[in-house]
Amino acid sequence: MTSTPEQLAEQNARHALRMARKKAVIDAAIARATEERGLLIVVTGNGKGKSTSAFGTMARALGYGMKIGVCQFLKSRTDTGEEAFFGALPKVEWHVLGDGFTWDTQNREQDIATAERGWQVAARMLADPSFDLVVLDELTYLLSYQYLDADSVLDALAQRPEMQHVIVTGRGATDALIELADTVSVIADEKHAYRAGVKAQRGIDL
Ligand code: ATP
Ligand code: MG
Repeated sequence: MTSTPEQLAEQNARHALRMARKKAVIDAAIARATEERGLLIVVTGNGKGKSTSAFGTMARALGYGMKIGVCQFLKSRTDTGEEAFFGALPKVEWHVLGDGFTWDTQNREQDIATAERGWQVAARMLADPSFDLVVLDELTYLLSYQYLDADSVLDALAQRPEMQHVIVTGRGATDALIELADTVSVIADEKHAYRAGVKAQRGIDL
């Protein structure tokens, strides 16, 4: 059914009013957000896109010439697309600190030793204000498996340089980590091609 000119005019007026109200709310929120400081961002959940999100933010930060440190825990492979690309950039310091997944190593003591060694690298970055952004990829597992002392990790995060941003990724972020974080995104697993038999694809999954 086509609208009459009067109905159209009324629809347009209603839309303009709704947009004006929305703009007022958004402007007020922008006016309130005046603080500038480093953020702790946690990207967790069972869906794909946690590390991808961190790498996307890295691209943004690099656009401003920021210095970035990356610690990849658990994973041991160094032939990923992300490392080939970002790891070669002068503003990026990239460390692969894993020993394979825990179900590969089947050795808890060895995993703990690897986790503690890796954490030393992360702790050094978290104490160094020259890093504008630190990415701690898959750190959540080291906390949920209790491979690292949670208090030391949370203290190092809380006491990092004021303007330093940190992104932590991995499933099952602990309540204490979520509590400390400024921004938390939980990615849901609605569907994944792997379950339809598609193997990990270069440039997409690794
Ligand atoms: P990505 O690195 O692709 O952003 P992610 O960081 O969210 O994934 P990880 O647990 O680190 O998730 O998994 C890394 C690998 O496992 C990737 O190859 C990814 O495609 C795959 N993967 C992630 N989520 C799922 C899922 N829900 N089901 C199956 N495979 C997954
Ligand atoms: Mg990941």
